[in-house]
Formats: sequence, structure tokens, C-alpha cells
Amino acid sequence: MNWHYRQPVTIHFGNGTITRLKDEIRQTGKKRGILVTSPSFEKNGLAARLVTDSDGTLVTTYSGISPNPDIRECDACIKTIRENACDLVVALGGGSVLDCAKAAALFCTATLPAGDYLDRKIPLPPDRLPLIAIPTTAGTGSEITRVAVLSDHEKGIKTPLDTPAFYPDTALVDPKLTWTVPRHITACTGMDVLCHAIEAYWNIHHQPVCDALAIHAIRLVFRYLETACEEPSNPLAREKMAEASVTAGMAFSLPGTTSAHACSYPLTSHLGIPHGEACGLTIDHFMRINATADTDGRLNELARATGFSDPGNMADAIAELKYRTGLKTGLTRYGLTDTDLHRLVSASLVPNLKNNPVPITAAMLYDLYASLR
Ligand SMILES: [Zn+2]
Repeated sequence: MNWHYRQPVTIHFGNGTITRLKDEIRQTGKKRGILVTSPSFEKNGLAARLVTDSDGTLVTTYSGISPNPDIRECDACIKTIRENACDLVVALGGGSVLDCAKAAALFCTATLPAGDYLDRKIPLPPDRLPLIAIPTTAGTGSEITRVAVLSDHEKGIKTPLDTPAFYPDTALVDPKLTWTVPRHITACTGMDVLCHAIEAYWNIHHQPVCDALAIHAIRLVFRYLETACEEPSNPLAREKMAEASVTAGMAFSLPGTTSAHACSYPLTSHLGIPHGEACGLTIDHFMRINATADTDGRLNELARATGFSDPGNMADAIAELKYRTGLKTGLTRYGLTDTDLHRLVSASLVPNLKNNPVPITAAMLYDLYASLR
């Protein structure tokens, strides 16, 4: 078996790590940074505090980013970068903010609008502005991955883009920033972490370093997600979920995601289900499907390594975890017609579906969606 492993992002982890930002900016040698964030951090004053603490090196702020960032928001961010002659990007927020900032830092070095890259036919620019990522949720792992997911809401498209140029230079992972994350978002983002780790492990491109990281992350999610939901300021639960998010991000960044993420894109863009919750809707079902063809016993090994007797038992535990953390376990409330199911199926046939260890056909997807209806 041949494999390679690469993780070029410098990671600083721990409560209070955000205070390193000024030093990290100084080390880049850049003087005109943009703070890319979401409206909530403008409102709660954290964005203003970072700007004040930056000694004038953060010269402007862009906060026009919504969940599942649209290409137009990315273009508006690029416009702000150009108007202020920015030479550095600092991203503070959840996965949507980090992805949009990563895309803006890259696309601003070329002339095309963000939407031109969505069909993945035009090569992405090779270089980006220096980038420091500060995650505020324990979820996407975007601060250390080479992936950015962008949407074109007008066309109903949500697409992951992938290039080594998306790796940030530095990630400041401060678990304390997640203490104010509401319960439902904690549950959704935590389920995303679990899916990243499981899909990295059973991926056809699996490799030993990523396997080890995935197993570590899965154990942490089962142990700490429910507590993080119930006790938002529990320091240990928040720290361990942040650790799970980073290690799951390192686990899937190279192999990529698989079936549950493939299905999540239309579940989000057609039905408005948050990303992690959308991934969680199918992950236990794919575990049962994949267990039927576990010829090398890898899935059995994963179940045992993470505290379960077999993959079926692990799938049951995932369903139970979704129920206990208040996540959807079905699609009954949407009144989906057969036409709706066919639309979901065709929009799920995206490249990462091919990373699943068992080939997933349109008929299998139809049956799966029908079973959730
Ligand atoms: Zn995800």
C-alpha cells in the first residue's frame, strides 16, 4: 500500500490562543489585513476587539457572510479586499466564514468571479494571500483543510472545491470561543465532525495516519458531544470537541469525504437542513450498507476500536446520539414526493460519492431517501 500524508497548517490550540493573533500577524510581515467574519461577531464585539488589538494591522472588516456562503458574498469580500489593498486575510467564524475567506483569499489573486470556478472546469488560481484561520465552532475543520464549500443559491448548487492553496498558513484553535455556540449548532457541527472521521476511515483513499486520527476523533465525539450540548460552558467537553474537530479535519482533508457528505449537499441546498445535521441523516444508514461488504474487516475493526461490538451496534449508537442531541433522524416533515426524491438522488451523484467503499447506485440512494420520508 502506497500513501502520502501532508499537513502544512501550523496549529496553535488551547483556551486563550486567540491572544496570539497580533504576534501571528506580525510574523507574516503584512500590514494591511482584512478581518472576515460573520455578523454575530460584529454584534458581540469580538470582531472590534481583534481589530483594536491588532495595532492597526487589521484595516477593514467584511462580515456579509451567511450560512452556506454564496458566490456573491465571496465576490463582495474580494471587492473589499481590493478596495482596501489588503495583503492578509484573518478569518474568524464557523465553517461558512472560513470557507468564504479561503475562497476570497485565493480568488482575489485572479480576475474571474467566484461562480466561474464552481463547475470545477477552470483551474483554481495557484496562490493566495496569507491566511490565518480562527474557528468558532467545533465542526468543519476548515481551518486545517484544503477544502472550501461554496454555493450558488440562485442555481441551487452547493459544491466543495479542493486545492492545496486552500490550506491556511496558521490555525488558532481556541476552544473557549465555542462556549457561546447554541445547543443545536453544537449538535450539528459535532455530527459533522463524526461524519468527517467516519468517512475518512472508510474512504477508498484511506491511509494509516488518517485512520489513526479518525479513530481518535470518533472516540472523542461519542464521549463529549452530548455533554457539550447539555453544558455549553463545560471546559473539558468543549476542549475535547475542538480537538475532535481538528483531528477529524486532518483525517479527511486528504482522503476526502464520501456518501453522507454527497447526500448532504442537496439536503442542505434543497431542504435547508444545516450541513452537519444533513450529513448525520444518512451516515448510520451508509454504515449499515458498507458493513454488508466489509470484506477486509476494516469497518469491524473501526467499530471495535471506538468501543462498539460491530458496525451495526455502532450505527445504532449514531442513531441514538442524533436522537439525544436533538438532530433529525428522518425527513417525514418535508412531505417529499417521488419527484422530490428523484431530484435529491440526481443531486447526490457528485464525485465524493465515488469515495464510498461500496459503489452507491441511484437506486440505492432512492431507497435510502424513501426510507427516511
Ligand atoms: Zn462536513
